[in-house]
Amino acid sequence: MKRAFKYRVYPTREQEDLLNKYLEESRQLYNSLLEESIKAYKEDGNTLLGYNLQKTALKLRKEKGFTVYAQSTQDVADRVTKSFKNFFRRVKENKSGKKQKAGYPRFKALGRYKSIAFPQYPHGFKILDDSLLPVSGVGTLKIKYLKDITGKIKTLTIKKEPTGNWYAIIIAEGEFKNENHVCESDKAVGIDVGLTSLIATSYGELIENPKILKNSEKILKIRHRQLSKKKKGSKNRNKARIRLAKAYKKVERQRKTFLHDLTNKLIKDYKIIFVEKLNINGMVRNHYLAKSILDASWNELARQLSYKAEEAGSIVLQVDPRNTSKACSNCGWINNDLTLADRIFRCQKCGIELNRDVNAAKNISRLGLGTLSRRGTESNACGDEATTTGKPIASIVAEAGKLESDLHFRNY
Ligand SMILES: [Zn+2]
Repeated sequence: MKRAFKYRVYPTREQEDLLNKYLEESRQLYNSLLEESIKAYKEDGNTLLGYNLQKTALKLRKEKGFTVYAQSTQDVADRVTKSFKNFFRRVKENKSGKKQKAGYPRFKALGRYKSIAFPQYPHGFKILDDSLLPVSGVGTLKIKYLKDITGKIKTLTIKKEPTGNWYAIIIAEGEFKNENHVCESDKAVGIDVGLTSLIATSYGELIENPKILKNSEKILKIRHRQLSKKKKGSKNRNKARIRLAKAYKKVERQRKTFLHDLTNKLIKDYKIIFVEKLNINGMVRNHYLAKSILDASWNELARQLSYKAEEAGSIVLQVDPRNTSKACSNCGWINNDLTLADRIFRCQKCGIELNRDVNAAKNISRLGLGTLSRRGTESNACGDEATTTGKPIASIVAEAGKLESDLHFRNY
């Protein structure tokens, strides 16, 4: 079983220039290989594919004086092979009269080649401690990386996203208990991420941010204030900026440690976990710092739950957060007057009173169970095809240009 781990990387200007150069070389190689394949196909109906195409790629690389990592050209060749296989499938369908005439695979226009693969760890790349990724021909990239890769590292893909940000996608292989089926009878929980407590569960548990984290967040606020008081361009301002950056790092580290314990417990206790889709719906507007802290917690919580669920054979399902705060979890009455200051949800219809976050968590659980049972009747296999936070992993890999067929992700 293979899994993908995706991390942001931070190339320097020089490294970015190199990466862009390799992307362009890869694109040109791709187009040349495609051209040769089409020519061969037109001449005798056969074509260069697979290993032969990989050899041609290496030859072309040398002829053109390209410096993109040699093994990365294998992947370029494999992508041409893949697009040709799709073409053959279309031709076949065409013969059986299903579709219109099949067109050849397309050439890639300038800027349309987005990723470079390093197919054979540890050739071409290494992973050093938790923030360094030496890549052949590029140098050591700074990476936002946690020590959370499990399994045996196989490949690296460096990808440029439309935002201009760069990502490293690392594929590792291991034993993941993904095959388990999740059914409605399994223990399920709804989780609400809130401002006062870190999370509330549909069973009424409230989990607070640990004191140590709260203290660090206080320090963070102080550091922000200190920075804003320093004169622009001054030495002291620079010092204050460094102190602020360190405070952020500390909070991040503490939060992650705490969230690891929390997500381990949740995964152990519950087979099905429902969380809100996206971030908290505008709850903390006008509180920039508070919001960024909250978002970071939510994102990290969702990320950890997602990959841990995958390993444990559990399911994490995201539900639409609309009205989860305002609706009564007991009778469905909507309280449109609910404000952020209201910590207790009081239903004017059925009279129930409970913590607002617990009420929201109960709604999230109810919505999630509804989605699961609907899917259960449609697909006859409980839990299949729901949108989970685990699913994007498969699509990340597909995006990266890998052959999907050699991956065995379970799409929940
Ligand atoms: Zn009610």
